[in-house]
Amino acid sequence: MAARSACQNSSLLNSFTLPCVPFPASSTSVSFGSSCRANHLPLHVTASASDSRKAMKVDGTVFKDRTVLDLNPLAKHGAPSSVSAAAPISVVATEVETLPLDRLKTGYLKFKENYIKNQALVKSLAETQTPPYMIIACADSRVDPCTVLSLGPGEAFVLRNIGNMVPPYTGNSCSSAASAIEYAVLHLKVKHLVVIGHSRCGAIKALMGIEEDRSNRFSEFIEDWILISKTASKKVKSLHQSAEFSDQCTKCEKENVNNALWNCLSYPFVREKMSSGELTLHGGYYDFVNNAFESWSVDLALMSKVEKVQ
Ligand SMILES: [Zn+2]
Repeated sequence: MAARSACQNSSLLNSFTLPCVPFPASSTSVSFGSSCRANHLPLHVTASASDSRKAMKVDGTVFKDRTVLDLNPLAKHGAPSSVSAAAPISVVATEVETLPLDRLKTGYLKFKENYIKNQALVKSLAETQTPPYMIIACADSRVDPCTVLSLGPGEAFVLRNIGNMVPPYTGNSCSSAASAIEYAVLHLKVKHLVVIGHSRCGAIKALMGIEEDRSNRFSEFIEDWILISKTASKKVKSLHQSAEFSDQCTKCEKENVNNALWNCLSYPFVREKMSSGELTLHGGYYDFVNNAFESWSVDLALMSKVEKVQ
């Protein structure tokens, strides 16, 4: 895949959102001047024609009056160079539904209804937590591991981040991932650490689109983070040069899981717990497009490889 960007029809430099999120076909799109931008909008803006309070819904969140104007993507960020000054933002008439917090409150009441039926669990969790699993998953809204794997309260200690990645052990970093792994392994004493990747992962698509010389830098934070897994993308590009970009991404989504597991092995306390048989490492892959979930376990022989490398 020579010089292919995450958003294949436009320069990453001209985009202030990555990865491009397909705009729902049923929604009215806005013309932003490039074919990619026309189909991949940074914000979904809708409004109710009948709402006298001028409430508007931006990416599913209802805002009113002046707040809406403040959040207008062009007002806030300025028009990207690819956008014509005359390009209008289409406003789609639709019903403004419940306020965002009402949706959350309704959801909580539904959860609570079932949760409080199990008083033994409620009392147990009030005292402590002893989850058997630590799960490291992507922050993608479509792949919540507790929902997908039907895990209830107290069953899994979960770390979610961009691309379900794990930075290697450095010993002195202020790292969310490192502290979460330390807490899960040493204090909660989880028995299984599971890293789960998923299909259509935007982080992996962006990773696969990064040029070797990084000339297409596109973000302040995301790019440096996802480059944690550059060995995975390099490996896939090298082994599957002739594959379609989407196939390469799928392979990298799985290779990225292995890279995260490999990095988990760089943490001394992880290796110690594995050596003593108190901890096992597993990889997982959730294909939400084809409704499939696969899993595998880390061969203990890998540990000796890590020890030789270090
Ligand atoms: Zn993802």
